[in-house]
Amino acid sequence: MHIARAYCVEADRVVDIYQARALFFALDEPRRRFQFLCSDDACRAANATRVTGVNYDKLVEDERDRVVVKPHVRMNQETPHSTDCEWLVRERAFEVLDSSAAEPERRGRAPGYRHLKFSDLVDVFSPDCVTTSATHSEGTESSGAASLSQKASEVKYDAGLQRRQSANSTRADFLDTVVSVYELLEADERREAVLRIGRGPKLPYSRAFCRVEHYFSARGDRIFHGGVRVRLHGPNFAVRFFDRVAAPNQGRAGEALDVSLYLKRETVLEHWNGKFLIAQLSEAVKPGHYAHCYFFGGIQPHRAPSHRLIVVVESLDYLAFTVRRRVGGDG
Ligand SMILES: [Zn+2]
Repeated sequence: MHIARAYCVEADRVVDIYQARALFFALDEPRRRFQFLCSDDACRAANATRVTGVNYDKLVEDERDRVVVKPHVRMNQETPHSTDCEWLVRERAFEVLDSSAAEPERRGRAPGYRHLKFSDLVDVFSPDCVTTSATHSEGTESSGAASLSQKASEVKYDAGLQRRQSANSTRADFLDTVVSVYELLEADERREAVLRIGRGPKLPYSRAFCRVEHYFSARGDRIFHGGVRVRLHGPNFAVRFFDRVAAPNQGRAGEALDVSLYLKRETVLEHWNGKFLIAQLSEAVKPGHYAHCYFFGGIQPHRAPSHRLIVVVESLDYLAFTVRRRVGGDG
């Protein structure tokens, strides 16, 4: 059963797994994992329904057999949900869709992709409905003394998500959510599953996500990505893509240029997810780790006549990294 949000006991509010992760990394070490209950008020009141937060406390994904477990909320088999619980209602709606409304050739097929259920798919990425930008904090110092519920109030809370999440579509405005789906889809499934970015057309995931080297030839809104090297520059982070990009009006014709982005620690820490990002990037710097960067934004010439390009995003909500470490035999 797909559960998109849970009530976090320590924060005393309903959060999605990425908000839980941001709150977790906002804690001082040693951090204790959170307790989660069902987000549905009635279900929680009647059964004290426990659910489990998975991998929200991880910075690095261990890659075993190329299957990665993304942060998510999971049902706890010991505590059943009420029949009217929002997640059971949604699950039933999906079952109906799967059995009746689906195209004939899809009927009778296993309900989902290899690592993802149909109900876990994000259909729409709505970058323009962001409620809080990277510059949202107004001098609020996130001192260690602030209680978790105070910190929770600083974390972006998109009440709209709940309203818009129906059996017909699942929207997200936080890039990490869509990236998780993309990474869980196999190559053939990415050609089949579709995503709409903003008001753009529906595109297969395989086209909605585009390698950074194709930036200047891609049309319309896309999510660009590529492997990166992360380096520390004092307290800040320099992120450079491995792929070089041939910009139409830069340098000599056809010359491929470096693409990078520079993340100032101070600025990142102003964002609701900032402490997680800093912790994640600090891991990416370590030997034996490699990182992949996704962004929804633009590429511009660097101010200095340096023949370099820089990535510009409107909000850190539109920037996501995955950090991996290969484990086990390198057969
Ligand atoms: Zn429930």
